[in-house]
Amino acid sequence: MTEKLYYENAYTKEFDARVISLEYREPYFLTVLDRTAFFPEGGGQRADTGTLGGARVIDVRERNGEIYHYLDTELALGQKVHGELDFAVRYDKMQQHTAEHILSGFFNSVFGLSNVGFHLGESEVTLDIDGFLTWEQLLHVERLANGAVRSCLPVTARFPTPEELSGMSYRSKLELSSGVRIVEISGVDVCACCAPHVGNTGEIGIIKIVSAERWRSGMRLIMHAGARALSDYERKLSSVSGISAALSTPRDEVLPSVIKLKEDVEALKHVTAEKDRRIAELAAKMLGSREGNAVCHIPDMTMDGLIAFSNAALPSVGGILVALTGEDKCYKYVISSKGTDLKALVKEINAALGGRGGGRSEMIQGSFTASLDEIKDYFK
Ligand SMILES: [Zn+2]
Repeated sequence: MTEKLYYENAYTKEFDARVISLEYREPYFLTVLDRTAFFPEGGGQRADTGTLGGARVIDVRERNGEIYHYLDTELALGQKVHGELDFAVRYDKMQQHTAEHILSGFFNSVFGLSNVGFHLGESEVTLDIDGFLTWEQLLHVERLANGAVRSCLPVTARFPTPEELSGMSYRSKLELSSGVRIVEISGVDVCACCAPHVGNTGEIGIIKIVSAERWRSGMRLIMHAGARALSDYERKLSSVSGISAALSTPRDEVLPSVIKLKEDVEALKHVTAEKDRRIAELAAKMLGSREGNAVCHIPDMTMDGLIAFSNAALPSVGGILVALTGEDKCYKYVISSKGTDLKALVKEINAALGGRGGGRSEMIQGSFTASLDEIKDYFK
């Protein structure tokens, strides 16, 4: 059995060990050591990475109590090796993981909810709870959690005897009986967990819940802790500052300004639609009656305006009515007809005029890359 150095001290960054077994499984060399500080994948957390001798540790997995290091280079059986973890990455995981314990502890003690899922990704940490809370309730738990961070509480881990364990109250996702590792955050949480954690809650810095959505019969939260929370704050501040500068509005007032802007855009859309409707009516009157086909170009028209024009003008057109907007060789079209099946012709029309689009037998919509003269010639 490999000695698990990460249980003794989560801060072990480097260690010496000996290779006790080797196996090649394409494309990796699965290597077992007599001792290791590399934490294997498990409990929603990815394995540690780093180097072992001259080899890169790509992954670490535990199977039947044995810890396999997935290496990109072959080592020799019995070889003494020096291992080095990518400790910045590991430490980030320790912060996220311990933060999750604190939040889960308060969800449990304050609202009687359980953590039913956890995933510690490269950029995102998700935490699933088995009930629904309002955003204000989530913020209440978040404030308590940050209070626990500021209190710099010790985080300890130990393997109690089965007798001790039977008398203990602790959170656990599984029914466990032997070899249970209990992680305790003084006065906040007691939980069965095998992962590495920080030794003191103060090391987490800050905990922030950034989103919450309904998930199965409860909620899925996205949270950040430590440096991730700071990076998230930096990104969001940069975003708010950008909006603030673009709208010439103080940072604290960007929300009402954006809402006002959106309302203005909606009002302008109505004005534009009304203007287009009037132009469409006028253009239809100007077109008058036609026996054959008609091609009309109305610059700066919306598609809705073009459809309104087609509906108004078509009763007076004997053949096919082609309504265009846009610039030369970059036209949008609405083609309508009372008697011709346009759906049957649309492929042919598009092929002849470099177009794309489709629709119903009475009306098709799309775009042309042909010139106005070419379009007029085609529908002559
Ligand atoms: Zn844990």
